[in-house]
Amino acid sequence: MRDERLFPLFQPVDSLPGIGPKLRPVFERLIGGDTVWDLLLHLPKRWLDRRVKASFDELVPGEVATVQGEVHSYKAPYGDRAPHRIQMFDGTGFLTLTFFRAEPRWLQGQFPIGKERIVSGQVGEFQGERQMSHPDYIIDPAKGERPPEVEPIYNLTAGLTNKKLHSATSAALELVEPELPEWISADVLQKNDWPAFREALHLLHAPAAYEPERFEIARQRLAYDEVLARELVFSMARKSRAERPAPPLTSTNDGLNTVSKSLPYKLTSAQVRAVKDIVADIEQPHPMRRMLQGDVGSGKTLVAVLAAAKAVSAGYQACFMAPTEVLARQQYETVANFLAPLGYEVVALTGRDKGRARESALMGLADGSIQIAIGTQALFQESVRFNGLGLIIVDEQHRFGVADRMKLAGKAEAPHMLVMSATPIPRTLAQAVHGDLDISILDEKPVGRQPIETRVVSDIRIEDVVEAVGRAVSRGERVFWVCPRVDADDDDSSAVYRAAALKDRLGVDVGLVHGRLKGEEKDAALEAFRTGETSILVATTVIEVGVDVPDATIMVIERAEGFGLAQLHQLRGRVGRGTKKSYCILLYRPPLGELARERLETLRGTEDGFEIAEADFRLRGPGDLLGVRQSGAVDYRIIDLSKDADLIDIARQDARYLVERAGNATEARLDALSLLKDLFSPLNRNG
Ligand code: ADP
Ligand code: MG
Repeated sequence: MRDERLFPLFQPVDSLPGIGPKLRPVFERLIGGDTVWDLLLHLPKRWLDRRVKASFDELVPGEVATVQGEVHSYKAPYGDRAPHRIQMFDGTGFLTLTFFRAEPRWLQGQFPIGKERIVSGQVGEFQGERQMSHPDYIIDPAKGERPPEVEPIYNLTAGLTNKKLHSATSAALELVEPELPEWISADVLQKNDWPAFREALHLLHAPAAYEPERFEIARQRLAYDEVLARELVFSMARKSRAERPAPPLTSTNDGLNTVSKSLPYKLTSAQVRAVKDIVADIEQPHPMRRMLQGDVGSGKTLVAVLAAAKAVSAGYQACFMAPTEVLARQQYETVANFLAPLGYEVVALTGRDKGRARESALMGLADGSIQIAIGTQALFQESVRFNGLGLIIVDEQHRFGVADRMKLAGKAEAPHMLVMSATPIPRTLAQAVHGDLDISILDEKPVGRQPIETRVVSDIRIEDVVEAVGRAVSRGERVFWVCPRVDADDDDSSAVYRAAALKDRLGVDVGLVHGRLKGEEKDAALEAFRTGETSILVATTVIEVGVDVPDATIMVIERAEGFGLAQLHQLRGRVGRGTKKSYCILLYRPPLGELARERLETLRGTEDGFEIAEADFRLRGPGDLLGVRQSGAVDYRIIDLSKDADLIDIARQDARYLVERAGNATEARLDALSLLKDLFSPLNRNG
């Protein structure tokens, strides 16, 4: 149950004056939630400085400005479409105010010749003359009035004005009354010069003065609140995990060494480090929760195989979970290849395994005669029983919901868990993104990979590309062709259209896979491509993850400019896995903007996923880090990953300290912290 003191903030947004049933959905769309608190978390994107400037000389075209001057003249329009013009003079020069379709009597009443007026609005320039068209404010200073010194400017959505939003947030602010107890310690507040919670919200949404440094400080305070709340939850999860028992997977007869020695190649030093991290964890009598993050092709599977060898030689079972049938089969082959020679029993367990084979697999897992299972979601069905499950490995974890992972974890008392992800999250952000997991990063590729040649090509030349595809196919190679959409009438970049066009043009069988197909249909299309039954696979981004077809040598991506960099990188990683030279063709529709060109050029210039992620981050901001959004791990409202990494580190340390030393905290502090957790708990949100 949420703390009562927060009830006012968690009222529906339409409980505010001025928001009725019609506006409610509009607000909800904009603020990504349905409560007053969600509205307050929708911070202004900037603040407009409306302070009165000293003179007209300071006016800069393009900016919003406020000035005071004397009304000098009124000029009627010289044509139908021309504006009424008011000339203002302030001793240093003139400013022309323009009004289209104005009522002359009203206008002259607003601007009596010889009187002082303050006007505020967007400054323009017309034929070398400073102008202001339809000022936002016209004020008579003789009445002692002033425009507001500052005006918060929000991101908007259709159907909402800034004014409406501003009045809604102002009403919302009144509900943050009285001030909530302070959860940040006095010395941290003082050191950072942070305002109190309520004051911070006021500073941002309803500032009395234009003080940009204060706005940033206030934002930081709320960002810290947000991240502290999360980190408290993570720290508590860590603490309770450290107190929970798990089987220490130690063994003298070490399967890990046997497998390492049998490898046809040398482990990369990143793989060695990751294996060491994992071994150190699973030898502990407490459950491991570790994330293995590594770029496509960095060799995560092998690390997992070694971990499984360790677990199994310690007398426990291990299981692998893959997001799709095809990936599970693929992984089964790899794992069996390494571990069956040691005398371990390995089974695949997917939705497709039925009847007798499934029965015997289930029995083997239940009686412990089978040590390793590899499967899809089918692994967590009730009928699957393990006998001493020690290690769970989840591949491409961002493809699974948290609920799926939990279900699997429930299969054993408290087994160790390794989750793997190819999402190239910059190292500086990895911890912020992965939360309570410990992290190992594979930042190095096996030696001897053939580089993939990446080309950026205008789709005016699509015919050349189609011909090249035809030639590759006739050489027995295979081609991925990715489209941004499934289908749309008269859209030539849709997968359905492209598959038909390629089939028509090249006279070969073309596979088609997209998200609207059923799971089995998808798997069948992928399988047909993998086995070479079809040599071209037209797909949407559903093929982004894990698919391993060593004979595929060309990856064509249509309308590449519309994809995220990280996503393009993942897609490209589907080729270049075999011995043949591979190509990635990034087709764009001209004209290509400068930023878009820079992004595609980045991709052409490097195959390093981390470098690409950093570039993506720099060019477009963290919101576009594909995996971050997909993983659902990061759902920050205020935190800005591009500038708050330090804040996250500080909050993590503070949270750990608070959780470790909870015994030292006063009752009041603990109460305030629990309030903070409630405030930012996602459980408090609907949907
Ligand atoms: P990912 O991290 O994308 O899951 P994989 O585990 O599928 O990568 O590995 C990609 C390929 O690299 C596989 O064919 C694997 O056998 C190979 N590989 C893994 N580790 C090494 C290594 N140390 N040296 C050479 N090849 C390796
Ligand atoms: Mg993989």
